[in-house]
Amino acid sequence: MNTLEWKGTQCKECGFIVAEDVLDCPSCGSSNLESVPIPETGAIYSFTVVHVGFGYMAERAPYILAIIELNPATKLTTVLEDVSDLQKIKIGTQVKLKRIDDQIGPIFSPT
Ligand SMILES: [Zn+2]
Repeated sequence: MNTLEWKGTQCKECGFIVAEDVLDCPSCGSSNLESVPIPETGAIYSFTVVHVGFGYMAERAPYILAIIELNPATKLTTVLEDVSDLQKIKIGTQVKLKRIDDQIGPIFSPT
C-alpha cells in the first residue's frame, strides 16, 4: 500500500475525534485541536446500497455507502470498493483503508 495521508483531528477540550482535517471541533467548537493517527481498519457500523448515484458518483452505482467504526470514538462515512457480492456485506464486516480519493475522501474495501 502506498503511504497515505491518513490523519484525524482530536479536540483537546472535549476529546472528540474526526477522521479529517478541521479547523474547529464539530462537537464543542474549540479550535484547540491536534493531529492524531487514525486506524486504517475497522468494521461496518451501518450501511446502505446506493442504486442511483449522482454527479461524479453516478457511474459508480450500485455501490455501498457505509459508516465505518474505526474505534469506539471514531466513525466515518465512506464508500466501499472491491465488493464482489453486495449481499455479503453486513454490519460487522471487517474493512480496511484502500486509498484516499480526491473527490470522495477515504475509500475502504473488505479485508
Ligand atoms: Zn471539542
